[in-house]
Amino acid sequence: MNEIQHVLGISGGKDSAALAVYLTLHYPQLPMQYYFMDTGKELDETYTFIDNLEVFLGKQITRLQAAKGSPMDPFDHYLTLYGNYLPSVQARWCTRKLKLEPFEQFFVGDVPAISYVAIRGDEDREGYISHKPNIQTIFPFRRNIWSKDVLTKVFAPEHRIALADLYGEVVGGATRAAAQELVNRPATVQFTQARRLTLLLDLGVATFNHVVFGALKQMNYPMSRLDDFPLLDNEDVVDRDGVFRLLDESGVGMPQYYEPIEFEHKGQKGLYNRSRSGCYFCFFQQKIEWVWLYEQHPERFTQAMAYEKDGYTWMDDESLADLIQPERISAIKEQHLRTSAQATKTKSAYLLDVLDESEGEGCAACFI
Ligand code: SF4
Repeated sequence: MNEIQHVLGISGGKDSAALAVYLTLHYPQLPMQYYFMDTGKELDETYTFIDNLEVFLGKQITRLQAAKGSPMDPFDHYLTLYGNYLPSVQARWCTRKLKLEPFEQFFVGDVPAISYVAIRGDEDREGYISHKPNIQTIFPFRRNIWSKDVLTKVFAPEHRIALADLYGEVVGGATRAAAQELVNRPATVQFTQARRLTLLLDLGVATFNHVVFGALKQMNYPMSRLDDFPLLDNEDVVDRDGVFRLLDESGVGMPQYYEPIEFEHKGQKGLYNRSRSGCYFCFFQQKIEWVWLYEQHPERFTQAMAYEKDGYTWMDDESLADLIQPERISAIKEQHLRTSAQATKTKSAYLLDVLDESEGEGCAACFI
């Protein structure tokens, strides 16, 4: 078997940590390499969480920093290069420069790699897929572990005969006939790639995985080099509750910034926390998280404020100086109390999920 790397990025968030725990418990034979892309601007709790996780894994989590050799930390180095132009949702140079490029260039290099990404089974989004052909992404927590680019190739009309033949090799009887019909059925507006995928998975997840694995043998993907891949037979789907369970039962626990803290507002009690990892000034955070930062980490808030100059602000609609005016804090807390009251009527019993509705936004490289 040719040399191949198995890599998992630890973001400092709960999902990537849970995936590391899961793979350690269920697939200890995989020679996983863990890495953490340090922007230099994480909360202290994130660094502590990564240290704790490392103890459980019994393996080193390689800490990597972009702009090695610079006298400044990675974020400040690139901010200077970008003329103090703060990153934003529309101009997210930070993720590219601080996380993705160093991962692709220095951690993986040109050696074929399988990158494991912790998009959960209850999420409807695709994680970051590298454009480098030597990096293939796998999603072990989902029912469909394959990335979109792989499926588009595998389902392409020119591969249908081979795919149907592979089904003929791995399964028999009525399932074989049904699978081959689905493989050969032309795509229409109603019969999309997603529909084809769902129906094939319904016929058997492990069977589907073995067929895709067989099809990849004829294509130039890192996995084509493997003789076998243990996750092909895995039918687990890990959702949000599953992530909490993995972290709880392993003793790793949740990142401390996730712990809800009680606040009082006009006689009413509420809870706030930070919902995800990443830089303490990340522009993806919600207003109530800025208030949390201001009240729970005032020194970090002051540092975030210091970046707001020359007309640049972290949020489009207000500056941090405006946000901390007493009437604004009061309005933000009131809104948060209303949203939380609504959420507790409909959401899971996990009190930790105070801010979970925002989780789908943002950046898979930073927050998973
Ligand atoms: S956490 Fe936010 S600010 Fe930091 S690199 Fe990621 S997107 Fe950019």
